Amino acid sequence: MPPASLDAIIIGAGFAGMYQLLTLRDRLGLHVHLLEAASGVGGTWFWNRYPGARCDSESHSYCYGFSKELLEEWEWSERYPEQPEILRYLNHVADRFDLRRNISFNTRVTACTYDEAANLWHVTTATGETHSARYLITAVGCLSSANIPNIPGLEDFQGQWYHTGEWPHDGVDFTGKRVGQIGTGSTGIQAVPVIAETAAHLTVFQRTANYSVPAHNAPLTREFKNWVKTSHAEIRAVMKSTPNGHPFTIADRKVADVSPEEREALYEAAWAKGGLQFRATFQDLLVNRQANDTAADFLKRKIRGTVKDPKTAEILSDIDHPYAAKRPPIDSHYFETFNRPNVELVDLRAAPIERITQTGIKTTDAEYNLDIIVFATGFDAMTGPLFRLNLTGRDGLKLTDAWRAGPETWLGLGVPGFPNLFTITGPGSPSVLCNMPVCIEQHVDWITDCIAHMRAHGQTTIEAQPEAALKWSDAVDAAANATLLPEAGHSWYLGANVPGKPRRFMPYAGGMAHYRNICNDITAKNYEGFTLA
Ligand code: FAD
Ligand code: NAP
Repeated sequence: MPPASLDAIIIGAGFAGMYQLLTLRDRLGLHVHLLEAASGVGGTWFWNRYPGARCDSESHSYCYGFSKELLEEWEWSERYPEQPEILRYLNHVADRFDLRRNISFNTRVTACTYDEAANLWHVTTATGETHSARYLITAVGCLSSANIPNIPGLEDFQGQWYHTGEWPHDGVDFTGKRVGQIGTGSTGIQAVPVIAETAAHLTVFQRTANYSVPAHNAPLTREFKNWVKTSHAEIRAVMKSTPNGHPFTIADRKVADVSPEEREALYEAAWAKGGLQFRATFQDLLVNRQANDTAADFLKRKIRGTVKDPKTAEILSDIDHPYAAKRPPIDSHYFETFNRPNVELVDLRAAPIERITQTGIKTTDAEYNLDIIVFATGFDAMTGPLFRLNLTGRDGLKLTDAWRAGPETWLGLGVPGFPNLFTITGPGSPSVLCNMPVCIEQHVDWITDCIAHMRAHGQTTIEAQPEAALKWSDAVDAAANATLLPEAGHSWYLGANVPGKPRRFMPYAGGMAHYRNICNDITAKNYEGFTLA
């Protein structure tokens, strides 16, 4: 139970909320409480327990950097650890920094209302409790609102169905079952090889074909672990300097700088190394369509060289968007899995799903009998979790109305009309285009410094200015349009995966290092674009 008088309420106990709790409580000495819908900490890693779930940021970079001791004492086992290991890590952080005493679990926030007269946020939970605080900080994640498509007939299905982002804690036994999986994004690509190992039969329903690069996951060697332990400063320096917060730099060369033979050799070397780093082979892959085509062509050839059945290979490699214009997955034997006799691919572009029946999935040209349906259909990303908070700002302004045409924020941190609300990794921040712990720590530090500044100067409200938000929306559009990212017209970056959602490129594509400088500059200019009173 939180104390009656609070300085700040934080919503969400993933990477973001936990660190925000620590900084406000232990650095600033504030009375702060965190409300979390789940029964434990971890956020993404609490909910996404589907088979094959693991990170695809490299483990030594997918962790907090704020504590030297924490960095030195924690040891990752693999290049890309599985969900249970990441969840163990986040539980370790909660224990080590004694965070649980300020967290209410099993507490879903259902409404947040700004009270101008009292200059307080009133936060209501599903159980009807209300808590109030000066500052409201959303740490609800960009990918925490499951997108279960509205396919007619789901209620008739007699088997079991699951969304990967709300996976049962005691697991799902696929042994001897006929399984259908909808979705071939990062999640689906991780799940397919693992489900195929035990299912009697797995039918993969693909709407949009996707690229993937092998993860080449493996246990970390003692030598690598030792190197990590002694090299945190230099690893972090690289992560801070790059556009995407990963521990590798992007090559200086452009595709046209090298001969076709050299290019092929570079792609082969990147393929052999595996992981998201494939993107970094050339600096112009995400900005020049001709350059991108060379990577796309290489990856499509790899699919055709791996998948033995020519028709299946064709459907898997018939990819309609530039490489990495959608979040590029990495995999462990995804394409190889289609060579198994118990795995079948269904091309939904050729024959879309008509309905779900009592016994399975019916497309326009066939019916598939299934015991289990797995929805690997992604999330109502970025704005979805914020809308579910039913935020009401100054003068009764609802966030859903303010963002009817798409999100408008100042730096992804503040929203005009919503005083004293901070949105960690909100729309308009680099967030999902970055190795997320890096951008989360930057946001949390910025918010903490801002609140410290306000307290030092006797200020009690901060609010983003509408002109600043408009200007920033233009900057977000311009940054996206300078890349090939908007060319994947069906991507969740644009909100296109959720029917009725306005199409607007939501994350800031100008790079994390550049964004950090912008934020520092705003601070130096006395919080330009915010009104402090
Ligand atoms: P989350 O971890 O999403 O936590 C948000 C929390 O808020 C949740 O616990 C949720 O229950 C809570 N919450 C939401 N709404 C409410 C409410 N109304 N009331 C109360 N509580 C609420 N990023 C990377 O950089 N690298 C990766 O390799 C990577 N792998 C990923 C793998 C998967 C399967 C997924 C889905 C995402 C992955 N991501 C990855 C993105 C990942 O979401 C972030 O890295 C990071 O975990 C986000 O932390 P967060 O604290 O911002 O949000
Ligand atoms: P996603 O990328 O949005 O993919 C969803 C998949 O479901 C797509 O193939 C989509 O097809 C399909 N789909 C959605 N609705 C459908 C419908 N009605 N009928 C048929 N198919 C439908 O979701 P995700 O794979 O869960 O990944 C979301 C994000 O989470 C990632 O991009 C990444 O940021 C993060 N993530 C990271 C990791 C990791 O780092 N290890 C792992 C998993 C997820 P269309 O493309 O045609 O819409």
